[in-house]
Amino acid sequence: MNDFLIYSKQCFINNQLVEATLYIKNEKIHQVIKGLHTIENIPFLDYGNLIVMPGIIDAHVHINEPGREDWEGFETATKAAAIGGITTLIEMPLNASPVTTTVESFKIKQNAATGKLHVNCGFYGGIIPTNANDIEALINEGVFGIKGFLTHSGINEFPNITREHLEAIAPVLKKYNIPLLLHCELSDNNVPKVNNPKSYQEYLQSRPQHWETNAIDLALEIQERFDIKVHIVHLSASEGLERIKKRKQKTNKLTVETCSHYLYFNAENIPDASPIYKCAPPIREKQNNDLLWNAVLNDDFNFLASDHSPAPPERKQLEEGDFFKAWGGISGLQFTLPLLFSEGRQRGLTLEKLIPLLTENPAEFLGLEQQKGKLQEGFDADITVWDDSETFTITEEIIQHKHKATPYLNETLFGKVIHTFVNGVQVVENGKLKIHRQGKLLLNKIERR
Ligand SMILES: [Zn+2]
Repeated sequence: MNDFLIYSKQCFINNQLVEATLYIKNEKIHQVIKGLHTIENIPFLDYGNLIVMPGIIDAHVHINEPGREDWEGFETATKAAAIGGITTLIEMPLNASPVTTTVESFKIKQNAATGKLHVNCGFYGGIIPTNANDIEALINEGVFGIKGFLTHSGINEFPNITREHLEAIAPVLKKYNIPLLLHCELSDNNVPKVNNPKSYQEYLQSRPQHWETNAIDLALEIQERFDIKVHIVHLSASEGLERIKKRKQKTNKLTVETCSHYLYFNAENIPDASPIYKCAPPIREKQNNDLLWNAVLNDDFNFLASDHSPAPPERKQLEEGDFFKAWGGISGLQFTLPLLFSEGRQRGLTLEKLIPLLTENPAEFLGLEQQKGKLQEGFDADITVWDDSETFTITEEIIQHKHKATPYLNETLFGKVIHTFVNGVQVVENGKLKIHRQGKLLLNKIERR
């Protein structure tokens, strides 16, 4: 079925839910037609009142392959993505082994991904203290950005960088107009001593808001001084919002994301000895969570992402319950849409606001805005069809990540993905992946400024 029509009373077109018919032809949205429209001999898919929207673009995912396939892999992560309505994801330069810090390791990663992708997948490169001279070649090879940490990453092969390293690579990032993605925590000793490593409160206090704001100040300074694109990944500290907002009034080169878990959970509800909730920066108090939601509603975030970062149960210290020894990272890629929709609807988040945060906005950040993120003629036919009135419960049977462990287990959510189309092929039908490996490897086509 190469050519077909998709019809719904609620297609998300030009930021509105409208009745329309999409004519899909040769992997693309060939035509967008107002209202109900049929064409002789062309199959017609009638979705009635279901939401038809651009496929979700998750710009922050850790897949861990090659080298740590026992944590997650391309096959399982992209299958979970497809079933969750995600049609494109961008993979971080850690926690695979080797880490993506040279062209050679980038090629190894591309090889590892080849033949396994159920959705489209692109990659970021990484900056560590020893690879400033590799950055230009990584950009030419097609990474979508360069990611660095300002504190220990948790992976020894991916040490954190300092101001000097950022200064060294800024001219190259400027030359290619490629974003610098920063994990903004700047550690210091101004934290309480740990008495009980199983206490969530103690874990939270060990990574205070000022670590984030200090790092953000450095990020903003580098952004301004070199006039480069800087993206702050997974903001958790609401105290960081105001300074970001202020700088954004002066430049469009500063962007910021937050992630599902910071919006869905709060510290008061996290039991002790449950490192399944561990991530860095940590999930903070309810008051902070409310401020993050206000920022979502006020358009202060450029986009939302999963920061899917799973690990085997023993690495998560699920039996021992030690927050300080456990791997920091939350598994949840498959459920981004229903999580954000369910929590957001109680807070007045409209679909007109939520959908672009998951589609058009990440496409723009990645430089894919002429190709993905909208239901528009000529765009790639990456499409998600879902039911905003149906609820479901996250059970182990439906989780497609490599490991079932996730803090979202047993949550009942609104918003069920029905069908997912990747490059014009219907790959998911009612929660099952029925056509395999339709994803493409995405390389960033850079334009020299
Ligand atoms: Zn991450």
